[in-house]
Amino acid sequence: MAALPALSYSSFRTYEECPLRWRFLYIDKLPEAPRGYFTFGRVIHSVLEQLVAPLVVPTARRAGESDRQRTLDEFHARGRDATPPRWFSPDELLEAYAREWSAEGYSSPEEESRYKALGRELLLRYYDFLLRERPVPVAVEEHLETRWDGIPVHGYVDRIDRTASGGLEIVDYKTSRELSNDDARESDQLSLYQVLVEKNYAEPVHGLTLYHLRSLTPLRTEPRDRASLVGLHDRFGTVLDGIRAEAFEPAPGRHCMRCDFRDRCPEFRTVPPVEGARLRSLVDRFESLRAEEGRLEVELRRTADELHRAAEELGVHRVPGTRSTLVRRREEAWQYSLDPVRPLLDRSGLSTRVGTGSTEEVRRLVRDPDVDPEVRRKVAETGARRVKWYWELEEASGDRPS
Ligand code: SF4
Repeated sequence: MAALPALSYSSFRTYEECPLRWRFLYIDKLPEAPRGYFTFGRVIHSVLEQLVAPLVVPTARRAGESDRQRTLDEFHARGRDATPPRWFSPDELLEAYAREWSAEGYSSPEEESRYKALGRELLLRYYDFLLRERPVPVAVEEHLETRWDGIPVHGYVDRIDRTASGGLEIVDYKTSRELSNDDARESDQLSLYQVLVEKNYAEPVHGLTLYHLRSLTPLRTEPRDRASLVGLHDRFGTVLDGIRAEAFEPAPGRHCMRCDFRDRCPEFRTVPPVEGARLRSLVDRFESLRAEEGRLEVELRRTADELHRAAEELGVHRVPGTRSTLVRRREEAWQYSLDPVRPLLDRSGLSTRVGTGSTEEVRRLVRDPDVDPEVRRKVAETGARRVKWYWELEEASGDRPS
């Protein structure tokens, strides 16, 4: 693979869900079928960007993270000698909505008009909310990137507000039907945005918010602590390692329902008709051999047990058959349960000698003349001998003891 890509949240999530789908999307660059709800989300985000962009005020940012990073002034056309923020009128808002609207991906004109009406209502209600709340945005739809302890990551952050407490709040709009506080608390996307903002801005992050637009509900959470970010960083590292190793195996699950690549995926592709009959008979053969294997195993065990019983009764270890002779062999192993003597070993400073409790370690200790004989005796007493008998086939012409 050429250069390793910077991971966005959706790229990361796609790989975690199914590496093969990631390859189809990010290496083969196969297009996905448009879907109405994605189009809807894109349109709403775009209108909100236009609504909020004139309100953006500059703030400090960390320097040197990336030359390609867009600066605030690019977002903020007014520059630092700005005229006061200018709010859209409701009519301008709806004009922007009409301009941005796209019919792509809706399953029917009825579905499209349902979504269109929903978007209109949602935008007007959110507009009223913004007028009341008067947030202080410092960025909208900002592309941020960084190396997160060696892992290249990037993302577009919907909005970053300055808080009354002098920090920053990250806001991510959601147009989905349902959203809960748990979604906000557990959102890996918000965690990644926190990392991106912390690496790019001077002010600390004071809050993370998923904004549920359908119910006008901000679901606010505290910034993530270091421990949970370490966990997420490990997962990003695992994804990057997988991509680097070109590990693109399919990982089937419920998500396959919405995958557009099923006809290319080995989990869903069907055997070509020309190979159907040959492979079907191989599968049938495999199935009956597998059943036979199970039956033979049971029968083999029963026969061996009967022979063991007879050998014990008769006191013999060699039993001739027609073509070969069965020879009875013994395998012996000792197992030690050291729990009862652990305190004694601790007191004697010998615990590390039998760290894993393996037979070899314990035996070495029991035979060590430098160890107190009483300790050795007590350790030895925790042992139990396990004997296993088994049969070996010997050719009839084989070497019998003379
Ligand atoms: S169909 Fe399922 S397993 Fe196959 S690529 Fe798509 S998501 Fe992965």
